[in-house]
Amino acid sequence: MKLFNTMTRKKEDFVPITPGEVKMYACGPTVYNYIHVGNARPIIVFDVLRRYFEYCGKKVTFVQNFTDVDDKIINRAKEEGTTSEEVAEKYIQEYFTDAQGLGVRPATIHPKATENIPQIIEIIETLIEKGYAYPVQGDVYYRTLKFEGYGKLSGQPLEDLQAGARIDVNDVKEHPLDFALWKAAKPGEPYWESPWGRGRPGWHIECSAMSNRYLGKTIDLHCGGQDLQFPHHENEIAQSEAANGCPFVNCWLHNGFLNIDNKKMSKSEGNFFTVREAAKVYGYEPIRFFMLSAHYRSPLNYSKESLTQAQSALDRLYTAVSNLEFLQKNGAQGQLTEAEQGFIETFPDYRQRFHEAMDDDLNTADAIGVLFELVRAVNSAVDGTPTAALATASLAMILEFTEVLGLLYQRNQEESLGAEVEAMIEARQAARKAKNFAEADRIRDELLSMGIELKDTPQGVKAVRK
Ligand SMILES: [Zn+2]
Repeated sequence: MKLFNTMTRKKEDFVPITPGEVKMYACGPTVYNYIHVGNARPIIVFDVLRRYFEYCGKKVTFVQNFTDVDDKIINRAKEEGTTSEEVAEKYIQEYFTDAQGLGVRPATIHPKATENIPQIIEIIETLIEKGYAYPVQGDVYYRTLKFEGYGKLSGQPLEDLQAGARIDVNDVKEHPLDFALWKAAKPGEPYWESPWGRGRPGWHIECSAMSNRYLGKTIDLHCGGQDLQFPHHENEIAQSEAANGCPFVNCWLHNGFLNIDNKKMSKSEGNFFTVREAAKVYGYEPIRFFMLSAHYRSPLNYSKESLTQAQSALDRLYTAVSNLEFLQKNGAQGQLTEAEQGFIETFPDYRQRFHEAMDDDLNTADAIGVLFELVRAVNSAVDGTPTAALATASLAMILEFTEVLGLLYQRNQEESLGAEVEAMIEARQAARKAKNFAEADRIRDELLSMGIELKDTPQGVKAVRK
């Protein structure tokens, strides 16, 4: 598999440090609010990457943190008259509700910053010992200019960064580019005891500490949104490589921006909204489908049209699959016909093309293209009087792909029509047998008003949710 490494700006063969295993880290949300739609893109994309590794037989350890101590959380707690812990706990639960709605599996480990304070303090102490950090008035700062190669990930020469750095007259830092590893506690803020007095960690240090603790000094993959390249990931590299004396990450993956109606998403544009709000309008799964409909590094435009298209594409998938489930039960018995056998022999070709798309830097857009080609071919192959065996084989092939993409996860919830509906369908069949067509039509109309359409097929009557 080839992945585009932000560090080298090239597609490279992905070679895990330990064969057969993948150690990946993704920067998770700061839990002070519901996640916004822009946050959903990396969460969905990297869930698919993890699923694909597992599908290819690799053992994946996936760590995604929660930033649960931060200015935004402290401010939210003040606004709501509660504690930072309560704010963080609430929005961690809300995160899981949205992630589950989006079909995103929980990471192997979801560590929290506040559960890693001793590890954070330990790294800061090492950095001070090695001369990469210095305490001042209860804070500790990273001595940025001492780290050779600062700016290498985001490709920004140090001179440019220095020119852009803000100089604050009250600054206690040696240099404007230095960043906080530890912040002295202000009155009323949460704090931990440390060698530099009471305080709390800066944001960047937690990822270095957690990646080190749960995955080791050098890891295979580190993922996140493009906006995290600088300064967050640049700072993580400076911290981890200075402390450990070895490379931090072999391959860096960053997803592209999500625009809203062709504008950058921002609070000032007023186009900033949450996954929860979008899911109320379109449902969760169309959001997932939409996020996978473009290559993860391309910019992606969120609009009413694109979400409506995602809904109807998903409908086509659900319809194809429920038709196959019906044919599994009601199709012709016996062995595959010769023509059917010939059709099934085309499956390895679809599988190969699906793998090629995924191996090409996780091109989910092309992989979805292969999936829909397969669905169209299956739909025409099962038109008429197919065997149940053909339906079974076709269904398995489609689900193999949708499982990797994490789609059709509401399938089993839709399977059952409910006892009442089943009884009405039977009553209609009985009425038709008794040639009581008026009654049969009345039941059909009643079902229709409940959103269930009855279709007569060569295999018998089939109920379809509208
Ligand atoms: Zn991070």
